[in-house]
Amino acid sequence: MKFWSAEARRNTLADWRATPPFVDVLVVGGGITGAGVLREAGRAGCSAILCEQNDFAWGTSSKSSKMVHGGLRYLGSGQLQLARESVSERERMMVEAAGLVEPLQFLMAHYSGEFPPAWLFDKLLHVYDRFARSAALRQGAERKQVKAMGHRQWPARDHGMLATNLKQQGLSALTQFTDAVTDDARLVMRVLFEAQQTGVQAFNYLRVQAVARADGHNGQKGRIEGAWVVDTSPDSESDEPFLIRARTVISATGAWADTLRMHEGHEAAIRPLRGSHLLVPSWRFPVAFSVSYFHPVDKRPVFVFPWEGATVIGTTDLDHTKGLPTSDTTDIAISEAETSYMLSGIDALFPGIKLKRSDIVSSWSGVRPVIASGAAIDPSKEKREHAIWDDNGLITIAGGKLTTFRLIAQDALAHAAKYTDVRAGTSRQAIFDTHQQTAGQSCRLAGRYGIAARLMNHSNELIADTAFQWCELEWALQHEAVFHLDDLLLRRTRLGSLLPNGGTELFGRLEPLCRQHLHWDDARWRNERLRYEDLYSRYFSIGASAATDKVFAGKASKGVAA
Ligand SMILES: Cc1cc2nc3c(=O)[nH]c(=O)nc-3n(C[C@H](O)[C@H](O)[C@H](O)COP(=O)(O)OP(=O)(O)OC[C@H]3O[C@@H](n4cnc5c(N)ncnc54)[C@H](O)[C@@H]3O)c2cc1C
Repeated sequence: MKFWSAEARRNTLADWRATPPFVDVLVVGGGITGAGVLREAGRAGCSAILCEQNDFAWGTSSKSSKMVHGGLRYLGSGQLQLARESVSERERMMVEAAGLVEPLQFLMAHYSGEFPPAWLFDKLLHVYDRFARSAALRQGAERKQVKAMGHRQWPARDHGMLATNLKQQGLSALTQFTDAVTDDARLVMRVLFEAQQTGVQAFNYLRVQAVARADGHNGQKGRIEGAWVVDTSPDSESDEPFLIRARTVISATGAWADTLRMHEGHEAAIRPLRGSHLLVPSWRFPVAFSVSYFHPVDKRPVFVFPWEGATVIGTTDLDHTKGLPTSDTTDIAISEAETSYMLSGIDALFPGIKLKRSDIVSSWSGVRPVIASGAAIDPSKEKREHAIWDDNGLITIAGGKLTTFRLIAQDALAHAAKYTDVRAGTSRQAIFDTHQQTAGQSCRLAGRYGIAARLMNHSNELIADTAFQWCELEWALQHEAVFHLDDLLLRRTRLGSLLPNGGTELFGRLEPLCRQHLHWDDARWRNERLRYEDLYSRYFSIGASAATDKVFAGKASKGVAA
């Protein structure tokens, strides 16, 4: 099996500085889209290298709402084919990556005279269920099991059993249906790990500065020759850019997609829309289902869901006007107005809960790579589908979602076929390498680490009251290209989001592990600690505003100012 190793990285980069490598496909961006492209390129027998400027999943792919949904939204807007494909991919992922992609029950509360009426949901979900049943049958599910799948509607009087504390006034019915949830950053890691097993390579902390082209003629751009890359890791031996030669470059840079294209003279096409989440302890706000509702202030769909033993409240949707971070010491932060907006929504729909700012353990904010329609429309009305541009060999892919990452990757490779001999796979193939789970192996670890789970030292020792195990931390330190504490606590595991104060209580036991596996000395440990505490307080908590300990009933105004 191929794992990441610091020594192998050093040697490889030194070789490449001396003699530029040449590959079929250079993938830029280590989020779910780039990981999917690398995986599919490897599967198709191409040589490929992926470069991520910061850590794997550092961008939006660790900051989503984590839903692997079938696209009820697509169904609502009449995009049947897209909804069918999404449902089919979701069903596959739940089977092939059980333990990583898990079913999640949803509950939609219907209020008299408000959108959406129960009958409309019922109609949409009949179609949704049909797609799911046929996908499950294709996956080999038993007929009896498939028959039992499907949504259910409940009278309002049953709310106490389904969602305690839900506002009762005007409640007319509840609809229960199934979708799926994941750990988005771990999803990226599993896809990258499987990609590496096919012989392709993925590097974090390698930034692509610019695309390299041959000289053009008659004002035309020359053909792609690769890209100039800089090592941004703390182990970097030189700031000098070096060349990676490639037949085609696929930029899967999400919200950052304009940067490389604008460097080549194209207009900006992305409208970065920020969405934020709050995480609170489940004992403070217990939910058994993901409860969806329309925010009373602006009637946008928002939701609260159980995740990793905690409760998450999401999400906002507003123009991110502050500029996108590029260095790994900056990130995207929730605004004061967003926190108020989400708390006021909870206060209106769950009046008994009376959440306070001091209940909030952490927050995270991501930027949706939405393709700008050009019209001055409400952010929530912009389309979320992916788009591909082929600028004479620089293929840019942006938009889309977690569920359909494999289909998006195949679409990108179909465009690349013009420049390199690649035959993209089909949706009939498995998404993941499936394998027999061995006796005693936890489904959770098998889902998250794939075949590598067999090699882990299963101590079963849980970290604090989370479902993460100490063996996962050790595994990540040894084999998962960890350069910084935040790589470990915010992406390889989610301990930084789940534990109070970003999990700093673990430092006593973590320090010797980092010294042992990453060879950190006193100065490095101190710097990493400071860096992590700074990042956490500025971007993953609600920071100083937590001191304002009051309930924000009805204080948010329509829309959420940036
Ligand atoms: C708030 C929110 C909630 C969401 N919820 C869901 C959900 O529940 N379900 C769902 O399916 N989807 C959801 N999405 C959408 C989904 O998260 C994104 O579509 C997806 O993560 C985008 O992945 P990506 O790989 O294209 O982009 P990213 O994950 O952003 O990856 C792009 C990467 O490119 C890197 N990069 C940029 N420039 C360079 C360069 N020059 N060199 C090297 N690397 C570079 C960046 O550092 C970044 O890591 C949500 C999005 C948001 C914002």
